[in-house]
Amino acid sequence: MHLKETLKALAKTKEALRAPSSDWLLSGFAKTTKEKPQKTIIDVAEKHRIVTGAFPGLYSYSRTPYMHEPASLLSPRSSYRQITVMAAAQSGKTAGVIENFLLFCTELGLPSNALYMTATENLAKEFVQERVDPMYNNADIYFTSDQSLSGSVDVTKKTGNTTFKKTGKGWTHVFKSFGNIREVRSIDYRVILLDEVDEMHQKQSQHNQGSIIKIAEARTRSYAGREKIVLCSTPLLAKSSIIYEQFQKSDQRHCYIPCPYCNHYQHLEFKNLKWVFSDKDRTKVDRSSVYYECEKNKCKIKNADKATFLTLENVKWKPHNKTGQDGHAGFHFSALYCPPGMTPWEQIAQDFIDSKNSVDDLQAFTNLTLGMPFHDTQAPQSAESLNSLKEPYKSNTIPRPDIQEKLPLLATMGVDVQGDRIEYELVGHAPGYHTWSLAYGVIKGDTSSYSNSVWVIFKDMLKMKKLIIQPKMVFIDSSYQTQEIRAVCSGTKSLRPIMGVNTLHGDKIRRRYLKGFVSYDGTPIVSYDVDTTSYKRTIYKNLLLRRDENGIAPAGFCRFPIDYNIQYFRGLQSEVQEPQIDKRTGKIKGYLFVQRGRRNEPLDCRVYALAALDAIALEHCEYNDMKTTDFNFFWENVRKKSMET
Ligand SMILES: [Zn+2]
Repeated sequence: MHLKETLKALAKTKEALRAPSSDWLLSGFAKTTKEKPQKTIIDVAEKHRIVTGAFPGLYSYSRTPYMHEPASLLSPRSSYRQITVMAAAQSGKTAGVIENFLLFCTELGLPSNALYMTATENLAKEFVQERVDPMYNNADIYFTSDQSLSGSVDVTKKTGNTTFKKTGKGWTHVFKSFGNIREVRSIDYRVILLDEVDEMHQKQSQHNQGSIIKIAEARTRSYAGREKIVLCSTPLLAKSSIIYEQFQKSDQRHCYIPCPYCNHYQHLEFKNLKWVFSDKDRTKVDRSSVYYECEKNKCKIKNADKATFLTLENVKWKPHNKTGQDGHAGFHFSALYCPPGMTPWEQIAQDFIDSKNSVDDLQAFTNLTLGMPFHDTQAPQSAESLNSLKEPYKSNTIPRPDIQEKLPLLATMGVDVQGDRIEYELVGHAPGYHTWSLAYGVIKGDTSSYSNSVWVIFKDMLKMKKLIIQPKMVFIDSSYQTQEIRAVCSGTKSLRPIMGVNTLHGDKIRRRYLKGFVSYDGTPIVSYDVDTTSYKRTIYKNLLLRRDENGIAPAGFCRFPIDYNIQYFRGLQSEVQEPQIDKRTGKIKGYLFVQRGRRNEPLDCRVYALAALDAIALEHCEYNDMKTTDFNFFWENVRKKSMET
């Protein structure tokens, strides 16, 4: 093409880009009724999109009817600016909202600049060669000479149809990997398509989750109000999943279909898929037994029934989040919705059985088939990052009041017992679960008899008031030297033998009266069971808290003395939460704290010290004839008493 013609084409391009701006979006019904109806992505796909593979021919949204609504929201007249699709793999989601949208952004629909991004350059290349090129070729898309959007003509390229960049009248489509994000920073697009964003994130972990969306928003800014951002992905790990995070910010739509027997509308959930085994080892699903149990009337819906209930007329999307971002529609669906000819329910049942004994396989099943993120091991923050929680006071001194004038009003102690030593932490408390670590110590010696020197030294420390604040209550772990530690606590007012348990099913502490041991006033000594999981969760949550820019500490804030070393913090961060997966449903039923091979005494001591505060408050409220613990009442009385002294 001659330069002149190119410039002419360029002028037309600019015109095409400029022209529709005023009436693209919601320009009012009065006006739209006079105009001929605008084409939608659905019109273009069903007229021009030729697909190959298992079902060759013209593309039809009736095959994957759940994709119709996400696609219809991509029409220029829709006010939605972001569409998030979190779904199972191989479910037709990419064809429905990404490939067809690219075709729409040519002269067949509304010519628009579009940027497609995926995890790697190879994936981008594969996508273009296997999906885009055949699609454009079959639709006879017309390519012009390559021209950059700034208006200058690239004379080195003769064609507007290269692997990573395609140009036609009024549109340029660019295909990139997220690794080349820098190259897109200077160009603006009306349409940004982010494919398999979770893989993108895994391969580019230096970018935080928000950055991809922020860059997309920045690159569409000049099209404000007319831009469309599409995120489409199978989710991976919950903690780093971009698609899951975005779905949660959206209006969270779930797909509803009517039961073919009772017509009750419901959204399909894996837990309702039923089957029996064909072998006694329970490894093979009897395929003929597989059915979906209707949630209302327990009707037995078979995979073959999809032909009748999974239709464009029947499929209804319902939002589940009233507080989502404006203009952001989110869609989630599992492989249970796959149409006849794609993954059947019989296969899903067998895939689950095959995967449930390995965490990796179960993750794959959760991600690829259920279209849900997988909650993996929850790693706590690094011990080093806790250094910022050190405050300007030394251990075993009274901290100076900070900007909030907060000071510990009372102290408790948690004691962890090993065969050759005891470790203890003295923790100061103030209302609002504010804490100060006041001292941490190790006393070495054989702990196997209550009369051994290690216990004498320990009790002397308390008796001689060697600590900066006397603990009101001391919780001593008695799971190891049970009888001896009960004996240690006998005859004292504030020492309590305790047992750590994984769960108390709702209670954090539970009291028991021990026969055969009496406290200082002759009554049986009291022992507590402590729900360690619950306290550890609280501690790990609170350790994430920081002072704000004004120095204000939030409720639950943990303070540590300036002289604590890194070993202490490593001990405090020594456990990770691992998910417990319900083998039947594949869903997380809870988390268990698992030690990571380091010493965990600092964590245990903190658990016991926090539980001790709950015990004091409980006993105080009970003493005042209250049925439940009232912390306001408790702290009020603590304050009064501290004023008196
Ligand atoms: Zn039914």
